[in-house]
Amino acid sequence: MNEMSELVGILRRIDGRSYKAYRDITGTYRVGAGWIFIDHVQADPFAAPSKVRFRLNQDQSQIPEDLWESRIRRTALEDFLARRMDETIRWARPERREKGKGGLFSIDSGRQEVLERTAAVVTRLWVEVRMEIGLPATGRRVLGRKAEEMLCNALPALGEKALTWTPSVDSQGRNFVLCVENQEALRQQLEERRLVAFVGEGSILPRQSGVSDRPMGREEVVLFRSPDSLRVTLNLPNPIGAFGNGIKTISGMGIPRGVTLIVGGGYHGKSTLLRALERGVYAHIPGDGREYVVTHPDAIKIRSEDRRRVEKVDVSPFIGELPNGQSTETFSTEEASGSTSQAAAILEAIEVGARVLLMDEDTSATNLMMRDARMQALVKKQNEPITPLTDRIRGIYEEAEVSTVLAIGGSGDYFDIADTIITVQEYRAIDSTVEAKKVAMEMPNLRAFETKAPFPQVVQRIPLAHSLNPARGRWPVKIDAFKVDVIKYGETTIDLRCVEQVVDCSQTRAIGYALYLASQRFMSREATLSEVLDKIDEFFECEGLDALRQGRSQRSERDLSHPGNFARPRRHEIAAALNRLRTLLVKQQ
Ligand code: ADP
Ligand code: MG
Repeated sequence: MNEMSELVGILRRIDGRSYKAYRDITGTYRVGAGWIFIDHVQADPFAAPSKVRFRLNQDQSQIPEDLWESRIRRTALEDFLARRMDETIRWARPERREKGKGGLFSIDSGRQEVLERTAAVVTRLWVEVRMEIGLPATGRRVLGRKAEEMLCNALPALGEKALTWTPSVDSQGRNFVLCVENQEALRQQLEERRLVAFVGEGSILPRQSGVSDRPMGREEVVLFRSPDSLRVTLNLPNPIGAFGNGIKTISGMGIPRGVTLIVGGGYHGKSTLLRALERGVYAHIPGDGREYVVTHPDAIKIRSEDRRRVEKVDVSPFIGELPNGQSTETFSTEEASGSTSQAAAILEAIEVGARVLLMDEDTSATNLMMRDARMQALVKKQNEPITPLTDRIRGIYEEAEVSTVLAIGGSGDYFDIADTIITVQEYRAIDSTVEAKKVAMEMPNLRAFETKAPFPQVVQRIPLAHSLNPARGRWPVKIDAFKVDVIKYGETTIDLRCVEQVVDCSQTRAIGYALYLASQRFMSREATLSEVLDKIDEFFECEGLDALRQGRSQRSERDLSHPGNFARPRRHEIAAALNRLRTLLVKQQ
């Protein structure tokens, strides 16, 4: 451990020298009640930024222990601290948004969702934030004085400001942590209440725009109101809001297990409700408007995704014999169609433990969703390989115990088989189950059911480790995620554009590394995909997200850096990424 004066000394010595001389500052320096860790120094001004950490003693920061005593509270608090550091940086250094990397501080803080992430860490003895910084240069020379100002003055000042717990931070931070704890408590009540989702009264479901995930403004929005017949009241560990009246319950719409339809006219808010349910598997920040929209943790958005690859999925419950005589019990394709991609997605989701499927007509294959009486009369069953979802959705619930929530305004064929039918009309939810059943009685459906067979057990697959090759060029392991929906895994690119429940680029990165880790440690000739995912979850629980760094190549210099940019993905998104890896090979169990 060195004193800060030593860092100052080095920076003054290397001022004006070649950029490579920055290497000398790698190390740990004491500053006041904290430390600066310079973990990784970039090789040149245009390389990925350098990695630094600022750690403050708890004596100084004094974060009350009750705010991180449980796992969920700690996750929430760490997420809060990363946001607070981000705000502090923005407030102090508006120039950080400028193009060009010299002089740029940044921290991987979240957006609307609260996730377990590695950007901030709280322990009994200290609290730490992990950042990236562009070390300043003129041309390719060290700008020692500027670096000194940044590392020796700005960083400790910002760090202390962000991490020292004052009364005003306490009210904000406490509200944040307790709100997240409330959301988690609601999510845990869903199972025992036999619900798949809960939408709290007064929630704001629509977003600002198609490119902004912030809530729609108060002037335009119609706040969510539950229909009386679906209203439930759940318990909360903490009163709502900082100035709550002490009441620890919340009311809202409970969506029961089974088959649920969201119907209604175009542009009346069906997809908006469904999208809020998709995101309800994660906690949201106070003020998001969807804090009290919570969905079963194993709810998976399913959509059609033509042109994706499919590897040995048994799609026979939906797709019978294909024109080329291709088997659909071990269905593989380099380029799926709309219907086969969606059928595969349903079976892949059930394979790894989905309990709820979320689907929207806007992103579904029509021929998988329905086949009406006239089409049945014209195209005989023997010429149509597809058994539509109308004829499978009940079996999926009754035999596989997987519920479905389906946003569909275009067909009444589901009225007979749904348990709950919610109409949204001018953004207001109405329970129209009784009325829809009446319509179904009065206008009998002439279509014939296309299968009487129960929904079969989904075939488990065993992923083969050697098919995940992370090597690229001279790197034995090269895995990158620069965007939320793309992983570069070795030489291949995994397209996650249709995996809509990945919400943060740091999750994407973690998925990439988790796949590598799994291929090294958990995949064997016997382990099914579901078992491999159990092992990954266990790894996250026992060793923490930080340990994903072990997946990095020893030879890569990035290996020395702190893992400040991982966020925890769900097993379902890890599976979805693996299923989309174009080199994946599996064998069926
Ligand atoms: P649908 O799927 O029924 O066609 P959408 O859910 O796509 O409709 O919503 C259509 C539009 O209505 C969107 O622009 C959305 O932002 C807006 N919207 C949805 N819900 C609300 C609401 N509660 N208040 C105000 N606007 C809303
Ligand atoms: Mg829609």
